[in-house]
Amino acid sequence: MFIPVLIAAILWQVETPKLVFPWVTSTAPFTSRLCLVNLNQQSQTLMLEARDSAGAKIRKEHVLAANAQLVDDASRLFPELVGLGGFSVFCYVEQGELQGALVIASNGSPSGFSPAQANAMEMDEASHSIVFPFQSGSVESSTAIVLVNLDDEVVAQVVLTAFENDEVVGHADVTVQAGANIAHMLSDLLPEMTATGYVLALSDTPIMGTSFTFNRWVEPAMSHAIPTTAISETNEPNTLLDLFVEHTEAYLDGEMLVIRTDDIPNHASPYFATNDASYEAPHEGMQLNPNRIYAQDFEFRVPLNPKISGTLEETRLGPIGVATNGVVFFNQYAGRTATGWVPLDQEIETFDRFNGHPQQQGAYHYHLEPTYLTESDPSTLIGVMLDGFPIYGPYDADLSVPSDLDACNGHEHVTAEFPNGIYHYHATPEPPYLIGCFKGTAGTLN
Ligand SMILES: [Zn+2]
Ligand SMILES: [Zn+2]
Repeated sequence: MFIPVLIAAILWQVETPKLVFPWVTSTAPFTSRLCLVNLNQQSQTLMLEARDSAGAKIRKEHVLAANAQLVDDASRLFPELVGLGGFSVFCYVEQGELQGALVIASNGSPSGFSPAQANAMEMDEASHSIVFPFQSGSVESSTAIVLVNLDDEVVAQVVLTAFENDEVVGHADVTVQAGANIAHMLSDLLPEMTATGYVLALSDTPIMGTSFTFNRWVEPAMSHAIPTTAISETNEPNTLLDLFVEHTEAYLDGEMLVIRTDDIPNHASPYFATNDASYEAPHEGMQLNPNRIYAQDFEFRVPLNPKISGTLEETRLGPIGVATNGVVFFNQYAGRTATGWVPLDQEIETFDRFNGHPQQQGAYHYHLEPTYLTESDPSTLIGVMLDGFPIYGPYDADLSVPSDLDACNGHEHVTAEFPNGIYHYHATPEPPYLIGCFKGTAGTLN
């Protein structure tokens, strides 16, 4: 195979880092030493890339002989960054195995030198949710948190939640620039934390974390945050985020979950153009309406932590929620006239076999249970409504039909996704089919 040597420098830019050193510093009283081991039987060309808190990059190439070890001070590897706080180092290799560790030391210690060591991080340690199992806001042992945003293009919005004595004691919203890092003392980020506990970090884009623990002489110890899929009171919204990211552009923005969708179904429909790969012939008895599917640009902003508002808010024409495949939900009416709501009666004839059809602008939507999403599991979570409450198929997890649904078509209990219990809607075979009203406060749609 022909591989032009001249473009090697460009290839580095599209590679995924093999190892990440989340926080390296050569600023007093600390020194850092990077250690890399080439475990291959041939020499390796490495690219070490330092990134500061703005994401600026400095790159250095090194050739490591077979079975060789590189050990060097950060101040020698990146003299440009001495005294400028700290930086991350991303390490790229063309192929093969590479391992590494960081040794950080404080020369402010009474002993004059106080080293701590941690392994370099690998990409599978990045996650939308990571946990720092030990954090301390006490004076005896203070801690610092480092976050690294691995996405080169998207700014990470991270919500930190501090737990102390098994309870939430504080939240902090932090922003990490694309491809960059932040480092803060816990006492600055989460001053509410005064003893020891743990911190959960939820991000809209994958992050890595490292934590430093210091004693009164600022002698460091360090360990990495652990990727987690655990569910707790605060990361329930991340469950929704994870469900939506496959077919939509979904991310967290402070207290809101943002879902952007083109509204194109991921299943066949007679409403696609006949030359579209997703076109299928109408099923028997179906009456095709004159509209066809066109891409939309819908942006839903729904509350991350939905709350029952106490007033039942009427639904509206147009999108009232979004299914996990990015298709929007409409309510149980065909329209509204001076005399009131018009039922769906005739429109139902125009639904394709998955209960969807497009309106005049080409916006495909479900008024009824989206059977494409429920055919393998009728109790599955099918989407989220504008007020942030989730909606499930017609059954509960034990495959019983809910018998206590309220006027909005919902009730509250524990579900697979929300083990602490949550109010949720169910699709039903009779009107209102999806929801009868918003139990919470509706978010916005652009
Ligand atoms: Zn319709
Ligand atoms: Zn239920």
